[in-house]
Amino acid sequence: MARPTDKQNGSDGPLLQQAIPLLIDWYSRHKKSMPWREDPTPYHVWISEIMLQQTRIEAAIPYYLRFIRELPDIPALAAVEEERLLKLWEGLGYYSRARNLKKAALLLTERYGGALPRTPEELQKLPGIGAYTAGAIASIAFGERTPAVDGNVMRVYARLCAMEEDVMKENTRRAVTASLAEVYPAGREAGLLTEALMELGEVVCIPNGAPLCDRCPVAEICRARRAGKQEELPLRSPPKARRIEERTILLLEQDGAYAVRRRPDHGLLAGLWEFPALEGYAREEEIFDYAVKQGCCPEALKAGPEALHVFTHVEWHMKGTFLTCRSRSPLFEWKTPLQILADCPMPKAFHVYLNAIKKR
Ligand code: SF4
Repeated sequence: MARPTDKQNGSDGPLLQQAIPLLIDWYSRHKKSMPWREDPTPYHVWISEIMLQQTRIEAAIPYYLRFIRELPDIPALAAVEEERLLKLWEGLGYYSRARNLKKAALLLTERYGGALPRTPEELQKLPGIGAYTAGAIASIAFGERTPAVDGNVMRVYARLCAMEEDVMKENTRRAVTASLAEVYPAGREAGLLTEALMELGEVVCIPNGAPLCDRCPVAEICRARRAGKQEELPLRSPPKARRIEERTILLLEQDGAYAVRRRPDHGLLAGLWEFPALEGYAREEEIFDYAVKQGCCPEALKAGPEALHVFTHVEWHMKGTFLTCRSRSPLFEWKTPLQILADCPMPKAFHVYLNAIKKR
């Protein structure tokens, strides 16, 4: 006979209600120490959640500490110069996240008395805050009964409840959020549950392979495990193929200084700095021709490193070329590697080339 936790009448509520205290208890005993957990003010939760989008926890920690040290509160964030903000963000990628933080801080200063609002509805009116981040801030910092559903939580939910819907679909995410919201606790337990679900997905109910069910606090009641489907779930439609763009990165050098330029204010990597580049893998004569047209008087050419950078929808396949020049074209800024490091926020895509000119 089926146990009471098996899916009956299509509702996951009773199973979730059984799971919640087990998850909170497990998290309270096993949680990993992280700087934003030491003092989970709304500002700290907000900054950490934005940084953790697309960035691993271990990689985000030094950035978080440096950011909070320099910009300890919303007024400081609202007042920071954009160039300095992008420098603090350099290496994390997805720079629109940093720009949105500043835009939101300005709005908060103008309209909310310099504090974050507590409800997910108000939080989602701020630039860069979607349903997931709003849920995380509202539950962790304010104790609101609001789930925060990201890929980790979707995976845990899909396995725990043996859900056979496509987790890549927005409708599925909405349904999971609604199902969790029905049983979400309030107050301190709301934040603990949010963190417990995220952490279980990160360290136990892991993606890409077998989850560590023997370490899982909900193993006894997990439907996927009981059905032997823990490695089949969650179901997901295949991602769309990325567009591939080939590029030639030009490291134009004159007396120890390299040509760099600021990218336009809109579009991919807006406002960041880059080395000049040609579309496609350019031939030697095309590279010389380009440098002559820019007024650089090129002399000697040498092949540089190759690099690959993956964005969400596009991949850059890059080949570098060192080109010694006799004159500095005014179309570029000319800076030494140290000056570039100090003054020019440069996206991760170009770090291979930045390292290459540092080593010369
Ligand atoms: Fe995931 Fe296994 Fe725990 Fe189920 S028992 S939630 S599959 S780790």
